[in-house]
Parts: sequence; structure tokens; C-alpha cells
Amino acid sequence: MTDSIKLTIYRRDPDLDTAPKYQTYEIQPEPGQTVLMALYHILENVDKSLAFRASCRSAVCGSCGMHINGKNRLACETQLAPLGNEICIEPLPHLPVLKDLVVDMSSFWRKYEKVRPYLITLKEPPASGKERLQSIPDRKKIDDFIDCILCACCHSACTLDAWSDGYLGPAVLAKAYRFVADTRDEGGAERLKLVGSEEGVLRCHTIFNCTEECPKRIPITFGIQEMKKKVVWGKLTGKM
Ligand code: SF4
Repeated sequence: MTDSIKLTIYRRDPDLDTAPKYQTYEIQPEPGQTVLMALYHILENVDKSLAFRASCRSAVCGSCGMHINGKNRLACETQLAPLGNEICIEPLPHLPVLKDLVVDMSSFWRKYEKVRPYLITLKEPPASGKERLQSIPDRKKIDDFIDCILCACCHSACTLDAWSDGYLGPAVLAKAYRFVADTRDEGGAERLKLVGSEEGVLRCHTIFNCTEECPKRIPITFGIQEMKKKVVWGKLTGKM
């Protein structure tokens, strides 16, 4: 029989508790069980008051980002077995806790909408009425960045983003790069003006926390550096 596992989980109901506490649950792990499956097991069989956010269970919706054994991860794709017999599960750091593992994502979405996260086109669509095409090499330039699932793991891991209301932060900058590098997008000048502002790429200290904590392994810091080059060049040449 497999050894039992202790899951120590951050608990807090801001309406009732003046301070957070940690509660430990002991479970018998199943082969292939993920952290999310373990949380559902506790919710359904042990403690119906446990709150956490989840949806697709397939690392696509970005809902179940949490801090597991000291690292931001998606609970749905994190296997219990490699984590050892004592696992600590906390909400994403630096975000206000609504209850237990559920955080308030308002700051994330407020910043996100600033970048106009959709294709901006000025030219008429192709006469064929079909989609705007791009070459395979052009598509490859944005392959990694298209994978963002808006989990906020990078937003929560960035020391600057966490403490600054204004700084756009890694997720927003990664989304900006996704469109700046997209050959079909015609909002480049507008986006570079935003990311070149006081609250944009030049405030990034290149610590790489965002890139290390991104569960989709998006090279966020690379995108930020690429935009820094464009911004600096624009400022030096007087084009920005
Ligand atoms: Fe999550 Fe990565 Fe997107 Fe940041 S860039 S929101 S960590 S998927």
C-alpha cells in the first residue's frame, strides 16, 4: 500500500478570520493523481468548506493556478507523486485572497484590458472573404506566445507587478508581444507606445521569475527584451 500524503492547505475566509491558518489533510494517493484531484477528493469526502478555483482540468483554462510547494503551478497538471509526502498548497502570492485558494484577479484583468488583447487591423479584409493569412515562418514567431492561458502565475511571481498598480506586468507584456510580433496586426505603433511608457518594458528588471513560473513555458522575458529594443530604438530615432 502506498504511503499516505499530508496536504497542508492555506485556509482563510476574510469575512470570518482575522488571520490565515493552515489545515493539514491526510490522504491515500492514487496512481496518477494530481493536486487538483486531491483537492476535489478533500472537497467531496472530507471538508466541503474548502474553496478553490478550477474548470477544464486540462491546463487550458488557466483557473487553477496556485502556489504548490513554493512554486506557482497549475493544480490540474501537477502530479502528487514527485512532490513528496508533505505538500503545501497556498493561493497565488501577492494577490488578495477571496477565500482559501481563490484569489481576486481584478488587478490582473484591469491591466490586461489596457493592451487591447486582440488583432487590430486597419486594412480591408481579403476580397475572398477568408481569414488574413500569414506564412508558416511568420506564424512560428508567435507560436510560444499564443499559448498563454491567462493563469496569472507570472503576474503573481513578478516582484514588481505585485507591488505596483501601474506596472503592466509580464502577462500583459507577453500579450503585447504576441501582437507586436504578429505580421497581421496593425496596432504595433499604439502597442509600442503603451509598452514604452513609464509603466512598461523599461521597468522590467529581467529577474526571470515570470518565465520560470509560467506553466506554459512561454519565454516572457525574451518578448519583453525584444520590445525593449524596439522602444529604445524608437526613442533614440525620435520615432516614439
Ligand atoms: Fe500564465 Fe504564462 Fe500566460 Fe503568464 S504568460 S498568464 S504564466 S500562461
